[in-house]
Amino acid sequence: MPVNGLFEMPALPYEALGNIISKETLGFHHGKHLKAYVDNLNKLLPDSGLENLPLSEVVRKSEGGMFNNAGQVLNHAMYFEQFSNSPKPISDKMKALLERDFGSVEAFKKEFEQKGATLFGSGWVWLSADKDGKLVITQQKNAENPVTMGLTPLLTFDVWEHAYYLDYQNRRADYLTALWQIVDWAVVENRL
Ligand code: MN
Repeated sequence: MPVNGLFEMPALPYEALGNIISKETLGFHHGKHLKAYVDNLNKLLPDSGLENLPLSEVVRKSEGGMFNNAGQVLNHAMYFEQFSNSPKPISDKMKALLERDFGSVEAFKKEFEQKGATLFGSGWVWLSADKDGKLVITQQKNAENPVTMGLTPLLTFDVWEHAYYLDYQNRRADYLTALWQIVDWAVVENRL
């Protein structure tokens, strides 16, 4: 929720993520890219009619520049929150859901990485739950978030080049594979 009509910067609960995401990348990604989205959103909010809504509602109800900035604030808040230097493993409950809908955890990870690697240009790959609780993987361009499709977003990997270029250069697939080591599954499951 906005405080006094403004959204605050989502917290960054670590300085670096082992050798998976460097402090330098996080400095630019959180400190510069995300900060710009938050600042832009806060400039657009006053008198928009959306200034007292939760962020996910702003994303659902906005378009154009407001949508792009609100979407990127929500997407990055979820992205940074889901990683940890001491991540919790997948619970038996979550493992059972992934096996039910993808065959195995490994098959899920492979499809998720493949959809992240093949998204052309900038965007996000998401794991979400649909209204019946079925887990689905979607590719979303630019600032899109699965909430606009009526889905409940659970996990996301940012495939904009700013997320990985300093650490992985053009090797997007290597970045995606490495991220599994820092996903905190307790955070992901809490979103269910
Ligand atoms: Mn990003």
